[in-house]
Amino acid sequence: MNIILLGPPGAGKGTQAQRLVERHGMRQLSTGDMLRAAVKAGTPTGLEAKAVMERGELVSDEIVSALIGDELDAMGPSVGAIFDGYPRTAAQAESLDAILAGRGRKLDHVVELEVNEDALVERITGRFTCATCGKGYHDKFEQPKVPGVCDKCGGTEFKRRPDDNAETVRTRMAEYRAKTAPILPIYEARGIVAKVDGMAEMDDVTAAIEAALKS
Ligand code: AMP
Repeated sequence: MNIILLGPPGAGKGTQAQRLVERHGMRQLSTGDMLRAAVKAGTPTGLEAKAVMERGELVSDEIVSALIGDELDAMGPSVGAIFDGYPRTAAQAESLDAILAGRGRKLDHVVELEVNEDALVERITGRFTCATCGKGYHDKFEQPKVPGVCDKCGGTEFKRRPDDNAETVRTRMAEYRAKTAPILPIYEARGIVAKVDGMAEMDDVTAAIEAALKS
């Protein structure tokens, strides 16, 4: 199965993708994670993407579609893909169709996480992750059980994304509204979109996604 999780920054795409990975052995393909890894490694792609990401704008369609193609090639053909943060423009949606078709795959579901944008700035600016295992936390909603120690791996270093500040978040929201939200009708016309309330409790969101994937 190949699915897209669609929704504005902070909607919970990454968290829900992780849960699907754990439950179904699918693979999360997050272009944001791939780009952050490229920036950290100082690759040519990373050097090109760094300033764009810091401004909260979109990296070129060519770069992200190439990253997705490479990741799919590295996966076993029977492993399902969860696209998280991709596609983000009509051109990327078109590329994804070609990328999947070229690999004998097809898109089965698009899950749209519907959220109240006012709540997103608080969600995003409070989030941080374990620097060792990547488990996500939040200043207000999910602190580690023992302060300063990761629940999952015992790590004591945590990090925040440089683009998770209020100003950049506003640009990221504007990019979503202008360039990403308009791709939904492409998938609605194919009858593969399920809308899920992304403001519900995390477990309820997961249950709603699972139900959508069975339909
Ligand atoms: P994310 O982790 O999905 O919030 O992405 C973080 C940043 O990476 C975005 O604000 C963009 O600058 C860049 N980015 C991630 N995915 C894409 C994409 N599919 N197209 C263009 N830029 C992207």
